[in-house]
Amino acid sequence: MVNSSPASDVVVIGAGITGASAALELAERGARVTLVDGFGPAAMASGWTLAGVRQSGRHPSELPLALRAVELWPDLAEKLGHETGYRQKGNLRLARTSDEVPVIRELVADQSAAGLPITFLSDLQAVREIAPALSDRVLAASFCATDGHADPDLTVKAYVKKAESLGVETLFGEKVTGLEVSGGRVVAVATSSRRIGCGAVLLATGILANELLSPLEAEIPLRRPIVTVLRSVVCAPMLEPVLGVANADMAARQELGGRMRVTSGAQFGDWSLANRHGWPVIRPGMNAIQETIETVRTVLPAFGSLELESVWAGALDLTPDALPVIDRVPAVDNLTVAAGFSGHGFGIGPVTGPLAASIALGAEVEMDVSAFRFSRFSDIPQAEASLTLHG
Ligand SMILES: Cc1cc2nc3c(=O)[nH]c(=O)nc-3n(C[C@H](O)[C@H](O)[C@H](O)COP(=O)(O)OP(=O)(O)OC[C@H]3O[C@@H](n4cnc5c(N)ncnc54)[C@H](O)[C@@H]3O)c2cc1C
Repeated sequence: MVNSSPASDVVVIGAGITGASAALELAERGARVTLVDGFGPAAMASGWTLAGVRQSGRHPSELPLALRAVELWPDLAEKLGHETGYRQKGNLRLARTSDEVPVIRELVADQSAAGLPITFLSDLQAVREIAPALSDRVLAASFCATDGHADPDLTVKAYVKKAESLGVETLFGEKVTGLEVSGGRVVAVATSSRRIGCGAVLLATGILANELLSPLEAEIPLRRPIVTVLRSVVCAPMLEPVLGVANADMAARQELGGRMRVTSGAQFGDWSLANRHGWPVIRPGMNAIQETIETVRTVLPAFGSLELESVWAGALDLTPDALPVIDRVPAVDNLTVAAGFSGHGFGIGPVTGPLAASIALGAEVEMDVSAFRFSRFSDIPQAEASLTLHG
């Protein structure tokens, strides 16, 4: 049962975009790295995602990370040696009611003041110059031309391949069952089939972060709403930018291959993680599917007549302030966590992984991560996070 495995400087748990980009960074800095995932690359949020790469609508603490990420995305495919599907086609955030117009206007004012190139489009004609397929239910929008989207599976796999080429050992289909702590440090990681001795651990396990943190009495307060995702068959070009809306109850983009991928707002309630052919799935309810189609069709009528290719739900790791935790776990000296991305961790993955890697190595951290500290939740009312603007 117990195989021996070479000791690692850092064991990264979770091969979503956060763990995969962190593993690459660690390897580039000369660390011996093991990247473990219970399933494989992009098995959870990083595969379920809409995969918008946006700066617009970001919290002020996250905006510098998003600005930096957008500097990195255009050259990422070349750096990784594999396609990421990144396209910088902008993000339109729509106002569909007279109440939503001032919300969008204020977003543009705040974010322009913060230095983001973002424009307020005050009427339908101006919005249709960017997205002609939109219905006349759209009253106004914000537009950030430097936002975009990418292919999440390609991107995560590209990170993993590059990391492997630099010597990162990958263990997929192997769930971590526990962290062995001695003298206030993690000394080994136990998986379903082995024990890996380690110098440090980086936990990038998304919605499952607390499974490994709870036994250490170091939980992150997380709610885990789900989002319904619909994907059409390949269709004629209808949308270049990513679409969002003022109240985050839908988002949409057209994938590079021509499929439309649309998402609902966050839905709170019971759900379960099933296993389909060895891969994790969450099944959305019929009502949620129907509502998502209606909400999207209201602004994008052509969507309603497309054929549906696949449907799934994705869960979010929503913290009380909708910001991630990127920090050492206070009581365990060499354990770093990067989780709680609250529905917007894909676009900033090329930055958050390397930041987490720096923290795990005890190296200088290049950006201000004080808003993402582990211990901040004692000051924040629980369960009060606003719904996040994904897309
Ligand atoms: C429907 C939806 C739409 C979204 N839209 C956007 C968007 O437009 N833009 C944006 O920026 N973000 C978006 N997000 C959020 C974004 O996708 C996530 O924040 C991001 O992908 C999180 O990446 P991660 O690597 O932190 O976590 P994950 O991708 O969830 O990776 C965690 C990994 O850890 C593994 N794991 C967990 N527990 C264990 C264990 N015990 N042992 C071994 N492995 C384990 C899992 O198998 C998984 O692969 C969206 C999310 C969803 C669900």
